[in-house]
This record gives sequence, C-alpha cells and structure tokens, in this order.
Amino acid sequence: MSARVIDGKAVAERVRGEVARDVEAFVERTGRRPGLATVLVGDDPASAVYVGGKQRACKEVGIAPFDERLAANAGFDDVAGVLTRLGADPAVSGILLQLPVPEHLSGDKLTSLIAAEKDVDGLSAVNAGLLALGRPGLRPCTPAGVMELLATTGAQLEGAEAVVLGRSNLFGKPMAALLLAANATVTVCHSRTRDLAGVCARADVLVAAVGRPRMVKGTWIKPGAIVIDVGISRIPPEEAGNRSGLVGDVDFDAASQIASAITPVPGGVGPMTIAMLLRNTLAAAATQAETGATA
Ligand code: NAP
Repeated sequence: MSARVIDGKAVAERVRGEVARDVEAFVERTGRRPGLATVLVGDDPASAVYVGGKQRACKEVGIAPFDERLAANAGFDDVAGVLTRLGADPAVSGILLQLPVPEHLSGDKLTSLIAAEKDVDGLSAVNAGLLALGRPGLRPCTPAGVMELLATTGAQLEGAEAVVLGRSNLFGKPMAALLLAANATVTVCHSRTRDLAGVCARADVLVAAVGRPRMVKGTWIKPGAIVIDVGISRIPPEEAGNRSGLVGDVDFDAASQIASAITPVPGGVGPMTIAMLLRNTLAAAATQAETGATA
C-alpha cells in the first residue's frame, strides 16, 4: 500500500483563508478588529523567527498584530507589567508569550498571568482544565491542528484505537484529550512504556510527538493506519534526504508503504500551528465581543 500524503501546507492555507473571511465578517458585525499580541523576551534567534512568522500571518488575515519585545535581562515584574497591560487592552483579543523565556524567569508563572479568554495558545491551567473536563475553551494550537488534518482524511475517530506517543503538557496530553473527546479509544505512550512497538501496532490512528528522528519504524504501523508525525528533529541534510535536514519521529519511507495516510516532515503538522493560532484569536475576539470581557 502506498499512503496518501496529507498536505499540511494546503490545509493550513485553507484554514487561513477561512479565518481571513471570518475576520472581515466579524469586523463588519462588531466594528472591532481582532488583535493578537506576541510577547518576546530576549533575543533568541529561533524565537524571533517564530514571532516574526506569527506577526506576518496576522497581517495576512486581517488580525491586528501587537509586537511586544523585552530585553533578555527583563525582570519578572517587567514582563508581568506588559502582560497585565495587554490583558486590560480591549484591542488585544489574544496574548501569546513566546516560550521558552530566559532562564531567570518562569514561563509557567508568566503564562498564568494571561487571562483564560486571551490565552490563544490554550496552555494555561484554566484552558487545560476546561479541555480535560470536556468544556468549551481555547484549545492548544498544534493538537487542534492535528484534529483538523485528521478531519481531512475522513477517518472515523469514534471507536478507533488512537495511540499518542508523548505526554507533554504542550502536545501529548491535550492531543489525547481531543481524541478522547472525539470518542476514540486513546492510549498515551511515553519513555517508560513497555513494548512501544506492540502498542503502536494496535493504532488505527498513530500520533507521534517524541522528538527522536525516525524512531517509529514501518513494522510498528498497523496496515491502513493514519499516521500523524508531529516530531521535528534536525539531522545532516544528506541523511535527511532534504535540504532543511528536518525529519520527523516516523520512518516516513517505510511507514508510507503500510499506512493509508501520513503527514510528511516538513510540510505536515508544522504549518497548522500558526493557522490554528489565528483561528483561536478570532474565537477569543468573538467570545469577548459576546460577553463584553476584555480581560
Ligand atoms: P517533550 O516535552 O520533549 O516530550 C517528549 C515526549 O516524548 C515525552 O512525553 C517523553 O516521555 C516521550 N519520549 C521521549 N523519548 C521517548 C522514547 N524513547 N520512547 C517513548 N517516548 C519517549 O516534547 P514536545 O514538546 O511534546 O514535542 C515533541 C516533538 O514534537 C518535538 O520534536 C517538537 O519539536 C515537536 N513539536 C512540533 C510542533 C509543531 O509542529 N508545530 C509543536 C509542538 C511540538 P517522558 O514524558 O516519559 O519523558
């Protein structure tokens, strides 16, 4: 079998188009434009690239971008002050604190200062709790992007065996909760799981988010499974077989002979994260417009 390759770029493009259209309808209806504030502390080049991408994406879909930058030696109170000001600003619908923050700061403590209704990353304790309880809230962007990709496969999630490799707060746990909410039978694996290969081989839907290049072998895949590769690792380009040197957690060449659908790396899950961030920002603006909440 040769798997269908799920085109994350195309799906992300479609989502961005929908958000752009819905943003204009929102502006027409409310007279207000959704706004997203990114907060970057320090000068880590990779973080600056991510923030730049988010700022550009906002402009493309008509979301007002707010770009807050603080020096690497900014104190907790400095960052907290910016987050509090943005929290009270009605023009700011969503706030994203770019992680990781410099070592002398606590990303967790700072994130907890962002009100749940502006937490467009969906990572605050309140939004994580709402997801765990199956109640409405802002969902973390990458797992929400995976659900969007799964929807394009037409996969029947209800009753399906879903296996999530990885249990991070950022991805694995919310991914498992979203699959459970879709009525899949969910197993979560981690570094202490016995017989990883055997558990994976049961999966109708396998979602890998470990960060170990090509760890998931073709023999771990159930024939006809849907394989979503979230992992991103950089290896020498000649080994990766592409110029970027980026590879996922799954041995793509082997797995694509056995799976029915599979995401590539790059170009699979990666492009979905910003698209879902934009969708979350619009959703946050809509909730705030309904409830009159600004913070
Ligand atoms: P993380 O916090 O490092 O978590 C990795 C998870 O993998 C942990 O639960 C760990 O288990 C598990 N693990 C590590 N080695 C393992 C092994 N040999 N066997 C089984 N499980 C193992 O990473 P993360 O933030 O969830 O991200 C995971 C990957 O996804 C990374 O490559 C990251 O770059 C990528 N990612 C991509 C996007 C995107 O495309 N936008 C977004 C988020 C993450 P323990 O809990 O037992 O330590």
